Amino acid sequence: MTSQKTIEDISLLGGHPALDFVNTVDSRGERWGPEYLNTYGDLVTWARRLEVIDDEERNVLLARATESPTQALRELIHARELREALHRIFLTESGETPVGEDDLALLDRAARPAQSQRKLVCVAGTIKWRHAAAEHLDAIAHRIGWLAAELLTSRTERRPIRACQGPNCGWLFLDHSRNGHRRWCSDRTCGSHARVRKFRALQSD
Ligand SMILES: [Zn+2]
Repeated sequence: MTSQKTIEDISLLGGHPALDFVNTVDSRGERWGPEYLNTYGDLVTWARRLEVIDDEERNVLLARATESPTQALRELIHARELREALHRIFLTESGETPVGEDDLALLDRAARPAQSQRKLVCVAGTIKWRHAAAEHLDAIAHRIGWLAAELLTSRTERRPIRACQGPNCGWLFLDHSRNGHRRWCSDRTCGSHARVRKFRALQSD
């Protein structure tokens, strides 16, 4: 939906980190791409922007990636595989196809370590779950898996997930519109392009 951008400044329109993660491909419409996760560093940058990791964890993970570039590349590929599985799973919410068993198993493998490594802490009098510090290159994918699982298992308590209908978009978002029929990831971009197309079509009739 946003050309000429990078992972540093792509729009965050999903309304949830797991949806913004799926939206790290510019378009899933008539064309696919460009890809915004091109290096492990891009994954770290994205995770810090979305507060999936903190500054200290970012530094640890970047140092690990420098020490082990081959493993970092492998983790990047795993994260992209998780992203594509999540895309298919999220689309099943509004479609008629069932969730793929392989996709669900992949998500389960990603989410489970983050789930099991959390611990209860008390912050300013409030008890909450906190993840164990991210020390390994796979930590980001595990946290994304956990966030996605939380989103998917809260289906009855939240707004529906929709895909933008822009022909060169397909970005996912939580539909917070009053009537529940939001069509565009952004009214300013895909919505505005659609209005221009409709106007031109009317002119040429
Ligand atoms: Zn869009």
